This record gives sequence, C-alpha cells and structure tokens, in this order.
Amino acid sequence: MTSDLPVDGYGSAIRRRENTARRDLSYPPLPEPLTVPVYDNHTHLEIADGENPLGYREQLDRASSVGVRGVIQVGGDVETSRWSAAAALIEPRMLAAVAIHPNEAPALEEAGTLDDAIAVIDELAAQPRVAAVGETGLDFFRTPEAGRAAQFRSFEAHIRIAKEHNLALQIHDRDAHESVIETLLKVGAPERTVFHCFSGDVDMARICAAQGWYMSFAGNVTFKNADNLRAALSAAPRNLLLVETDAPFLTPLPYRGRPNAPYLLPNTLRGMAAHLETDVSLLSAQITANTELVYGRWDAEPVTAAHDVQRPDQAPRGGLA
Ligand SMILES: [Zn+2]
Repeated sequence: MTSDLPVDGYGSAIRRRENTARRDLSYPPLPEPLTVPVYDNHTHLEIADGENPLGYREQLDRASSVGVRGVIQVGGDVETSRWSAAAALIEPRMLAAVAIHPNEAPALEEAGTLDDAIAVIDELAAQPRVAAVGETGLDFFRTPEAGRAAQFRSFEAHIRIAKEHNLALQIHDRDAHESVIETLLKVGAPERTVFHCFSGDVDMARICAAQGWYMSFAGNVTFKNADNLRAALSAAPRNLLLVETDAPFLTPLPYRGRPNAPYLLPNTLRGMAAHLETDVSLLSAQITANTELVYGRWDAEPVTAAHDVQRPDQAPRGGLA
C-alpha cells in the first residue's frame, strides 16, 4: 500500500503535542535495561513532543536498548490510523491499532462524515499488522451531553469492527466507566478487550476480572495521588495485566510532565512490581505472555521493505490541518 504521510525517517511526526503547561521539555535519561523484555501496548509515536522531538525509529531504537521489545502504535482519526497501519507495515517492532477517538466522533457526526471515517477504519482493520481497533470508547470528561450520542454510535460500530476482523479492542474510558461497561455487555465485547490507561477503582477491576477484560496500566499508576489506581492494580488478576506508556503523555515518576516515550516503560513496570511486591522479571514475563495472547506475535505477519512504501518526498503531503 502507499501512504501520503511520511513513514520513513526521523523527525517525521505528523502531530505536535499542545503545550498546556509550563514544563521541562527535555527527554528523561534512559532507564536501566530490563532483563526480561516487555511490550508497550499503547503509544502515539506520531505525536511530536519536547524541544528536539524524537522520530519514531529513534524512539524504537531507544526502546530496544532498554528491553522494550515492541509497541502498539495507536491511531485516533483517519490520518493517524492510516499512518499507524503504514508504519507498522515497514517496522517490525510496531503493530497498529486503528480507530476514531471518542473525542473526534461528535465533530465528524456534525459534519456528516462519521460513517465515512468508520468505513475507513473498517478497511484498515483488514490490513496486515493491524492488531487492534482502538482507541475507541467514551469520554464524558471532554465531551458534553450533546456529543454523546455520536460517541455511543461510534463506539458500538468499533466494537463490531473488532469482532468482524477478530481483532483486540482498545478502550478509552474517561469518566464513563458505567456506560462503557453497559455498552460492552449490550453489544457483546470482543474476545480480547483492553481498558487502555486503566482508570477504574477496585470494584471496576473486579468487574473486568469477571469478564476477562484486560487492564493496561500507564505511568499515572506511579503518581503520588494514585492510591486508588494502585489498589485496582492489586485487585487485578496478573493474567489480565498489561502495561503502556500512552506516550507522549503520562510520563512516569520521577519525570512527570516531561516528554514520554516507549523507552520509559521500565519505570512504570518497576513501579508496578514494587507496589505488587513482586520481581520485575517475573512481572515482565507475565505481561509479555499476556500481550502476545491479546495481539499475537509481532513477527506473525512480515514487514514490507521500506522502499515499497511511497516516500514523503515523492508524494503530496496529506491534508493535515
Ligand atoms: Zn492514547
């Protein structure tokens, strides 16, 4: 396939993180490498952050050097989903997730283009090295009442796409726990369902456990005010645990606020192991096994040689506002 977005080269980010707060824009140092490698199952390598943004390959090289074996690169609209699928085709350390983010759905609905966008996601979901549909779900924090019907409609469509293509589902749930659970039970959850950046409490962890839904913890599990989240972590069965960066957001302690990247995953993993009073390598091994059960192996489908993908200097730039 071809893509009009740059997928080969450094500094090729297609989005830039909005700077909302005064913060340190330098990347944190590399952590001590993990002995047993692990996967980052939710990251956004296309979003540039920091004074000197790292290109996606540089981010993956750093990740490899500290035992982060691979990533799920997650799209949130048509452009970033296309980019994710195209980049995963040429990069063996990357698999893709494709979706319309719940905060994008209301505007698309208003413009009358939500169905077209969902149809693109359905097409992308059939491509090799697309391992998940996500991130989709509900976000009542960012979206007011008026936009929620569109969110529900989009979420339900994404659940169906995941099931039709036998892909994992990655859920974005912000201040919408009950409605997300109700929708999953109503429509029927895919066999492999993941709550990305798990934000529930102990009760919710128990509901997920009963349903066999995976809970993916991000850097915020290390934050000082996150006792609720750590209690949920303790309540989650180990065979349903996953770990992620959600980079460039949610940088784990002691670097909260600085740019995040998959190479910082060991900090979150070590924080989780310390809280669970377990061995880091034991936890890595468990999470790696869980991750491969959810998404399959990263080498299950071959990558395409990079020269088969249209280079950005040979293609018109995509319509990125
Ligand atoms: Zn995300």
